[in-house]
Amino acid sequence: MEHYLDNAATTKPCAEAAEAVVRCMTEQYGNPSSLHRKGLEAQHVMEHARQQVAAALGCKAQELLFTSGATESTNLALRGAAAAHGRKRKKIITSAVEHASVRQTLAQLEQQGFTVVAVAPDADGRYHAEDFLREVDGNTCLISMMLVNNENGYRMPVEETFRGVKRKDPEILTHCDAVQGFLKVPFRTRSLNADLISLSGHKVHALKGAGALYLRQGVRIRPILFGGHQEKSLRPGTESVPLIAAFGAAAEKLSQTVQERYEKAAQLRASLIAQLRTMEGVLIRDIPDASPYVLSISMPGYRSEIILHYLEQREIYISSGSACSKGASSGVLEAFGAKPAEVDSALRISFCAENTEDDIAALVQGLKDARQGLVH
Ligand code: PLP
Repeated sequence: MEHYLDNAATTKPCAEAAEAVVRCMTEQYGNPSSLHRKGLEAQHVMEHARQQVAAALGCKAQELLFTSGATESTNLALRGAAAAHGRKRKKIITSAVEHASVRQTLAQLEQQGFTVVAVAPDADGRYHAEDFLREVDGNTCLISMMLVNNENGYRMPVEETFRGVKRKDPEILTHCDAVQGFLKVPFRTRSLNADLISLSGHKVHALKGAGALYLRQGVRIRPILFGGHQEKSLRPGTESVPLIAAFGAAAEKLSQTVQERYEKAAQLRASLIAQLRTMEGVLIRDIPDASPYVLSISMPGYRSEIILHYLEQREIYISSGSACSKGASSGVLEAFGAKPAEVDSALRISFCAENTEDDIAALVQGLKDARQGLVH
């Protein structure tokens, strides 16, 4: 029996998403830009999906652009904002624990003459709005901050920080990478005070290859791709209607159960923590107020990859640190204060509401056996 506990990397598409894809491939396969009936039909499918994702996020449908995923959304948000607002102002503020899609995009902007200030967490691995607000000055054009960290589930103080930034200077654009928070952790979009929000479909039981960028009404950015007029000319190229339709279907479904699923994830996480506490040599990053969907642990002395492949033989799937870094450390856990031996042995367990106590029991047994059976 399979035990999939790597839901921060990707999730299994829900039946509604799969059905939407098949329908778009077999019936509603037109190009939404075509002027005939088939085109119009595809356009309706896409606009319906836009309504569904917008309703799930709590924004207007006109405020959402579809993209190929959160990596593209962040690229468009950050580079597009920098191009539109970074002529005179050259400073960008961010956290030191962002996902690579934000970190690498900002590194590119740095090469183009922007100054990027990456704020580190305090000694306890916490962030406070003040840490960011201290950096805000007349040269600042943009701030980017994730909602939930993908490696340890830490919930960043986005609301307070962005509110403070806007109070200091409403012209500074605020971007939130909400990939690991959307439809998982309850939040109110308006309260985030974000001008731009990046979302990904495959983290919420839709498919890889569809994401969205929320662009608050009235906010101006420049395109980074050129060609057609799709998505208000901000994301040219024929839209992937099947993947977009799946995103809409999954968002509508999940939006009805955010609280229930949150509680289920919290239960599973608490149960796993309780069982891990009975084991020796396991460091548990039980961060207060973290997203219940993610738990980061370390077993110093046992390299992550070795444990991961050991568990894989039992059809137990988890990640070493962050899935995107493919074994290479992203530096995020270090920034949160982890020592090198803890980083080398870091494991990320990430839940969805379909996980059960059986999955937890299989994982705990697997970890116990790995400790006994593997030489470290
Ligand atoms: N941001 C965060 C926090 C993520 O966890 C991920 C995926 O791992 C991304 C962005 C990138 O999302 P996508 O795979 O849709 O490009």
